[in-house]
Amino acid sequence: MDEKINIREERRNQTRRLYFEDSYQIEFESPVKEIRKHEGRPALILEATCFYPEGGGQPSDRGEIEGVKVIEVREEDGQIVHILEKEIQAEKVKGQIDWLRRYDHMQQHSGQHLLSQVCWEILGAETLSFHLGEESSSIELDLDRFSEEAQIEIETRAAEVIFKNKPIKVYLIDESQSEKIPFRKKPVKSGLIRVVEIEGFDYSACGGTHVRQTGEIGLIKIIGTDKVRQHVRLFFLCGYRALRDYQNKEKLIKQLATSLGTSPGQVQITVDKLQEEARILRKRCLKLREEMNQYEAEKFMAEAGEPIIDHIFEDRSAEEARNLGLKIIHSGHFLIIFGVKGETRNHLILARSNEISLDLKKWLPWLKEAFEAKGGGSDSLIEMALPQHFSLEKIIQELKEKIYSEYAELKKIPLL
Ligand SMILES: [Zn+2]
Repeated sequence: MDEKINIREERRNQTRRLYFEDSYQIEFESPVKEIRKHEGRPALILEATCFYPEGGGQPSDRGEIEGVKVIEVREEDGQIVHILEKEIQAEKVKGQIDWLRRYDHMQQHSGQHLLSQVCWEILGAETLSFHLGEESSSIELDLDRFSEEAQIEIETRAAEVIFKNKPIKVYLIDESQSEKIPFRKKPVKSGLIRVVEIEGFDYSACGGTHVRQTGEIGLIKIIGTDKVRQHVRLFFLCGYRALRDYQNKEKLIKQLATSLGTSPGQVQITVDKLQEEARILRKRCLKLREEMNQYEAEKFMAEAGEPIIDHIFEDRSAEEARNLGLKIIHSGHFLIIFGVKGETRNHLILARSNEISLDLKKWLPWLKEAFEAKGGGSDSLIEMALPQHFSLEKIIQELKEKIYSEYAELKKIPLL
């Protein structure tokens, strides 16, 4: 297909790229040109190779040379460097690329050309970059927004071009001819330019490996979007990747339906019903909690023989304890000291009824100093978090004694 470019490469004493001539060639034989090290690892340069080196958004091929694993393929000064798992000493070698990986890359890369052209056709959006990833691929578009409607329109248009099974042709032109080709993006390269054409639909200057017909792309599915800098990034899957994604998503929805005791088509209706039920239950739960608070507050007050009510809770949040305390101080003349044992920290809540004219902040400096307490509040309510190594029982006892000794008149205020 592209013997011309390889005739040139040979002239320059560079590796002959068999994937330029036929991206479907899996096996090859070649004389060894150089045995070397690449960053400390054994490496090989051949006269000719099927191995595609990383470049143009496409990752490198994998495979074997003389039964030795090729772990990375790089291009350096026109030479293709095969980085190997272990050293090979030979004058001539046989190599084989991992076809499933290569074909996957061909499907994704041809799919990208097609998708980029559809984005240009429908949205007037230029593709700024392309990345072929292990899981999904992405293109960055010169767009600041991407709607769901646009996604459906683009996927449908892409499928239409795929189903027409257009030939994908690869040929070389000289840079002087480049004006005659309606490139989606003007090539910056000089000399010979490799054109990948989806017949009459898209013209790209590209050195990647491609399928022969659009039908081989199978399907292009956009699976997500992202905002990057001022642009939109589209994540997409082609070919077998799109099929596997469909299979996984179908499995997921079937599992969901089974868990919900319904059919896949009824999942949304069932979830809506469950959410409504949960909303009603939450409301009822709030009401019950409120009633329980009232009941508990009354119990605390009935059993209180003194104006200070203290208690340590182990089974509720600081917020719940505070709400209970507020209920008590609003229903009678009390000062509450509640301790709450938490998972990582303990809490201390101090609150008083309006009829008790004490400034609770008065004890803040002492609590901070003696027990490393953190927090604050108002004259009538303070909340603090404390490290767990201080005994809440001891703190509450000491605080109670301090309050009584400084405000003896507290005991004279009627409780209710
Ligand atoms: Zn390309």
